[in-house]
Amino acid sequence: MKQIIRWQAALLILSIGFATAANAQDRFDGVSIETIPLTGNIYMLVGQGGNIGVSAGDDGILMVDGQYAGLADRIRLALTDLGDPDPRFLINTHFHDDHTNANPEFGPGSVIVAHENVRTRLQDGGMAPEGLPQLTFEDRMTLNFNGERIELVHYPRGHTDGDIVIYFTDANVVHMGDLFFHDRFPFVDLGAGGDVQGHMDNVTAVLERIDDDTLVIPGHGDAVSNKAELTEFRDMIHATSVVVRSMKSEGMNKEEIVERGLDARWSDWSWGFISEARWIETIYDSYPE
Ligand SMILES: [Zn+2]
Repeated sequence: MKQIIRWQAALLILSIGFATAANAQDRFDGVSIETIPLTGNIYMLVGQGGNIGVSAGDDGILMVDGQYAGLADRIRLALTDLGDPDPRFLINTHFHDDHTNANPEFGPGSVIVAHENVRTRLQDGGMAPEGLPQLTFEDRMTLNFNGERIELVHYPRGHTDGDIVIYFTDANVVHMGDLFFHDRFPFVDLGAGGDVQGHMDNVTAVLERIDDDTLVIPGHGDAVSNKAELTEFRDMIHATSVVVRSMKSEGMNKEEIVERGLDARWSDWSWGFISEARWIETIYDSYPE
C-alpha cells in the first residue's frame, strides 16, 4: 500500500512537472512580433508584454524594453529586418518582468540603460548579472543616436519608483513605459514605490511637453496613441480618484466603496489584471486620507 501511495505521489509530481514545462512552452506559442512603422526610423514592436520602441539607422539599433527571454529570437528576427539583430542600446522603462525578462538575452551584446532604482530592484530580484543595466542615471540622460536626440527622463513615484519616459525629440515620438496603458485602468505598483497622485502628475508633466502631432507608445495596448488619448487617460485617473477619495472622506471603508462602484462610464476601462474593484482599492490605499 505504502509503495502504491509513493508511486502515485511520484506520478503526480511528474505530471505537475510536465504540465509546468508544457505551459512554459505554450506560453509564447502563437505569439508573433508585429513591427509597426511610426515615423522616419522609429518603430513600435508588439508581441507579449510591454510594447517595444525601436530607433533603427546608421548607428544601429536602440531598443526600449525587451519583453520576455522566450521571445528574444523572434524579436531578433524583427530587428534583423530593421538592420541588425543585436541592439547597441537596450533601455528599460522600469523593472517589471514583462519589460526586462529578456535583459540577459540582449545584455551581453548591448549596453542596458535604466534608472538606478531599476538596477537595484533587478539585482534584489535575482536578475542574472548579464541582464543588469550597466548605465544608470538619477534624473535624466541624453543619447545622440541615429542622428536623433533621445532624452530619457525619470519621473518619480508613478507606476514604480524607477519609471523613465523616452522622448525621441526629432521624430516627435514618446515611449511612456507603464505610465500609460491605452484605454485601461493603470497598474500602480504601490509596493514598488508607485503612487496614484504621482502617476497622474507624471502623465500631466508629459502632456505639457508633447503636442498634437506626437506619437505616443503606450506600455500596454497594441496600437500607437496620441496626446488626446493620453489626456483622456489622465482625466480618467483624476475623475475616479476624486470620487473614491470623497467616499473615503465620508467614512466609507474599502469594501463599501468597491460595493458602490464607479460610474458606468468607466466600465470599459476595466480589464483582466486591473478590474474596477482593484482600481478602487489602489486609489484607496494610495491616498493617506
Ligand atoms: Zn510595469
